[in-house]
Order: sequence, then structure tokens, then C-alpha cells
Amino acid sequence: MARRRRGLVALIGANPLEIRLERLTSPTDGVIAGRPVKLFGTNNYLGLTFDPDIQAAAIRAIREEGVGTTASRVASGNLPGHYLFEEELARFVHKRTAIVFSTGFQANLGAIAGVCQAGDVVVVDEDCHASIYDAIKLSPARKLKFRHNDLAHLRGVLAGIAEPMARVLVVVESVYSSAGDLAPLAEIVAIKKEFGCHLLVDEAHSLGMYGERGDGLAAELGVIGDVDILTGTFSKSFGLIGGFAASSHPDFYCLRYTARAFMFTAAPPPSIMAAARVSLAKIAAGTERRARLWQNSKHLRAGFQAQGVRTLDVRSPVVSAFFDDLTECYQVWSRLLDAGFYANMLMPPASSHGGCIIRFSVCSEHKPEEIDALLAAMHRARSAAAGREKTAPERQVHFSPVGVVVPETAGAEPRVEP
Ligand code: PMP
Repeated sequence: MARRRRGLVALIGANPLEIRLERLTSPTDGVIAGRPVKLFGTNNYLGLTFDPDIQAAAIRAIREEGVGTTASRVASGNLPGHYLFEEELARFVHKRTAIVFSTGFQANLGAIAGVCQAGDVVVVDEDCHASIYDAIKLSPARKLKFRHNDLAHLRGVLAGIAEPMARVLVVVESVYSSAGDLAPLAEIVAIKKEFGCHLLVDEAHSLGMYGERGDGLAAELGVIGDVDILTGTFSKSFGLIGGFAASSHPDFYCLRYTARAFMFTAAPPPSIMAAARVSLAKIAAGTERRARLWQNSKHLRAGFQAQGVRTLDVRSPVVSAFFDDLTECYQVWSRLLDAGFYANMLMPPASSHGGCIIRFSVCSEHKPEEIDALLAAMHRARSAAAGREKTAPERQVHFSPVGVVVPETAGAEPRVEP
């Protein structure tokens, strides 16, 4: 990793994964290297991080209940904020039981590793989040992958399983975070019902944005009743930290004792729970925020498409731009940063679709003129990158299934860094 990092920094001049924000001044504004930057690379979809009511709830809880729990939920860390929020959340996501974890990562670890036993099979979309893959590694279940959003392949994988279908759990996300594309949830639910297996949907990038009350894509599509386990996070539209797993299975509360990521870690602080309850109420009532978010998403996507930027044609708050060449992708990304716009740069293996991606995420609080300014900066950045000499072949970075091919010095034999 150290060699690979040095090679990347030598080749493209900096490491886009080591950006330091000096300050965060609003949901959409920060300061990087002394200069103000518009943030288009957060998951702050509804701009709730600076909401005064949410801030006030957190501050009140800190004053009244302290800054931390210093205990697990199964010990003395189970305060009113935790269980009252769980009840509200369960109603919101249309499930009987919701269990709050300290992060969304832990919610996936706990939900998957906590329900699967030896002899079970997890069938997972290949683009699923690292927390889902780590969860499967932690569980004794057998893992089978299906090609991203490929229903015929999912069907084929399920048809080839010898174990009883009651022992099979299909795992998908409703919105995939790096490309921003949606799972065909209605079709996946139909396949799950046809085969008689179980389904877990991670709604991390969907809750708050989809559905009339922000109750997620499965609710919007009317299939929430057929999703056996729902997981999600409070680190995106809620503007906080934390995660949850929810289900209507009558014994789902047992996850509190089988999920090590729940039992053997400290409960989230009361301030986060107090804030999450206000966030949830704002999300449920957030029709206008959602309208602005979708307007912004359409504006940015249409603007990119008009410039010939490769993006997917999907209804998503994530508007990813795809590049074939890492160097070009990096040049565009760094010119955008110089122009005062921060977005995420994703490289394989962390990106989906095997490509180099600049991931833009919109917030309900971005102004139309800020999106116009970003579009103009993108146009300039791409023209400048196209005007530069193509990267000499011996300096090009390629991707292989085993890693990035980075030549250490110009003219040297390229080598594969695993
Ligand atoms: N699931 C998905 C699909 C995610 O994108 C993320 C965060 N990137 C997580 C889970 C983990 O959430 P958290 O940040 O709350 O740990």
C-alpha cells in the first residue's frame, strides 16, 4: 500500500484521499488550503448538519445527559433517546422492530453476521458496500456474488443453490453509492418471492430522499412489506452518525444478543439520539427539501449531459462522472478543486463499474447558481484536460483485477501493485 500510494502521488501530484478541510462553515461550504470551497462531495443530501433545531436538541442532551454513554446498549448505555428513537424509526420504516447501532457500517456487520449461521448462503450484488462484504466475512455463511443489478444472473445463482431457500439471504442496496444507480427493487422482490428466500436492503443513500415522507425507495415502490431486513445510516440524509437494522420478524429483537457489533461496543451518545429524533421529524416533513434536492440533481445531470460528460441516466442524488483514464480524471478533479469545487474522486477497486469516477452529490441547499458555476468549471476543466498532451504510455496508470499498474519512474517497466 505504501508503494502504491507513493506511485500514485508521484504520478498525479497529490492524493485525493488525503484532503484536509480546514473548516466546515455550512452544509455546502468548507475551507481547503485557505480558500472557500463549495462541497459537492458529501452525503449531506438534505443539508441538515447545521439545522438549528437539531443542533439545539444535541446541545440540550449534552447538558442534561453528558457527552457519552461509556457503555453498551446491553449494559447501562440504553437511555430513553435510544429506545424512543427506535420506536419512532420502526414506525417510519414500516417495520415492527428497529435496532440502532453506533454506525451504519456496524449495522450491516451486525445485521448480516448476526442473523446468518453455518449452512446459510448470502447472495450479494457485486457492487455492495464494504461493510456488507465484511459482514459476510464475519459470518459462517457461504458467499455468492451476482453481477451488478443483473436479474438474470441473480436468478441463475439462486437456481444453482442446493441449500433450502429458507437459508438464503439476498443482499442489495437501493441506491449504489459510487455510481448512484438504483437497484430494480420491485423485480428483486418478485424474484425473492418466487424463490422463497430472504432479502436485506441497505437504504443508506435512499432514506430521506425517496418516498413521499422520505421513507425510502422500497416504500416508494410499494415493496417495503416484502423486504425482510432493512439497514440504513444516520450519516447521510440525517446529517449525523449512527445506523440501524429493522425488520418485522417477531424474533428480530434477538439481534441485540447475536450482533457483536451491537453488543460489544458503546451506545451512541444521547446527543446523537436526541438530534436523530429531530432529524427524523424534519425528514418526514421535508417535502420542500426533497423537491429542491431533485431539482438540483436534474439540473446538474442535465448540464453534464449537455457537455458530453458521461453520467448515468438515473433519478439519484449522486451524479457520477465517468472517465477512462485516471490521469485525465485526476486533472479534471484537481482543476475543479482549484476553481473552488470539491467532489469525490473514486478509483478502482473502491469505485463501481471498474472506472475512474468523479462523484458529485447534490444537497437540497445548493443554489441553482452554484450548480451553474460548477457546470462552467467542469466545462473549463475538461477542455483544459483535453488540451493537454495525452499521458505518455509509460506514465499511464491502468487498472487490472489485481490492482493499479503504476510505473515508478518514466520509462520503467510497468509493474502491478497488488
Ligand atoms: N452502507 C452504504 C451503502 C454506505 O454507502 C455506507 C457509507 N458510505 C454505509 C453503509 C456505512 O454507513 P456509516 O457511514 O454510517 O458507517
